[in-house]
Amino acid sequence: MLDGRSLAARMREKIAPQAMEFARQHGRPPGLAIVLVGQNPASEIYVRLKVQAGSEAGFRADLERLPETASLADVLALVERLNRTAAYDGILVQAPLPAAVGAGAMSRVFDTIAPEKDVDGVTPSSVGRLVQGRPLMVPCTPLGIIELLEHEGIVIAGRRACVIGRSEIVGKPMALLLLQRDATVTVCHSKTADLAAITGEADILVAAIGRAGLVTKEFVKPGAVVIDVGMNTLADASLVSQWYPEGHPRLATFQKNGTLLVGDVHPNVAEVAGALTPVPGGVGPLTIAMLMANTLRAAQLGAGSALADSW
Ligand code: NAD
Repeated sequence: MLDGRSLAARMREKIAPQAMEFARQHGRPPGLAIVLVGQNPASEIYVRLKVQAGSEAGFRADLERLPETASLADVLALVERLNRTAAYDGILVQAPLPAAVGAGAMSRVFDTIAPEKDVDGVTPSSVGRLVQGRPLMVPCTPLGIIELLEHEGIVIAGRRACVIGRSEIVGKPMALLLLQRDATVTVCHSKTADLAAITGEADILVAAIGRAGLVTKEFVKPGAVVIDVGMNTLADASLVSQWYPEGHPRLATFQKNGTLLVGDVHPNVAEVAGALTPVPGGVGPLTIAMLMANTLRAAQLGAGSALADSW
């Protein structure tokens, strides 16, 4: 099991003194504004964790809320105000936006974020730089996965990597980061035929789908490194009891909460994988740690400081 939680905690411990040093030099802490439109229950949890992590790291981390009824113009006006607010080095707009904001709204919002504040790596400028192999701001989830692979000494160069999922925020940037590190990368998606035959060739398999337990052991080459990005809520007691043997601690968690947070990777993959990230405690905490790292980086870049690291 690859322990994302403890790596994330160590990363955050390193960020806090740097945030303090930034505040000492510039008379203000690094600032992060998180925009939440509407009341999606999962988004409420994610933004709470992000604000909490920002405060713990010594940042100014503010949640900017808009109601479910907000128009696209309201969201764009808020982002433009945050672009102009010097106290914020980073802006993150939590996806998804309510359907009522309109089709294509997310892209319009991403287009409006000032590239130098784009701590989620979603603006055309950030994406273009990543495609060209000279990234500046990289989406937090794939960046956290690369940090984990490198920290664990997992070789990427020359290996076959497969990413299931082609979203702008996870699948595509993940594939690009692996390619940039010389993996031979295949991207699979909802229209891929014979998925298991393709995933079964991968030395590194990243599942970013949003379908509980879709990746079973039949999809995985023995010894492969499997990264589970999925965050799904299981509420079906019979499914949960099929997944976990009697006495398994996750059954007790389900009984206590009535639901269970699970990934896209079925528990039986542990029988064949060489290494595997758990859900919870794998990719999720790393995503939050990388948001802190990106915000500190944006603050340092904005202040013209020399940077210790380059993605
Ligand atoms: P998305 O819905 O934007 O994309 C899902 C992708 O999966 C699509 O590209 C689609 O083509 C593919 N897909 C759907 N069904 C498929 C199938 N049957 N076979 C193969 N491919 C299929 O989702 P996303 O934003 O990329 O998120 C994916 C998952 O990762 C979700 O569960 C999300 O909650 C989770 N997530 C977790 C973190 C984290 O920090 N752990 C961060 C972001 C997203």
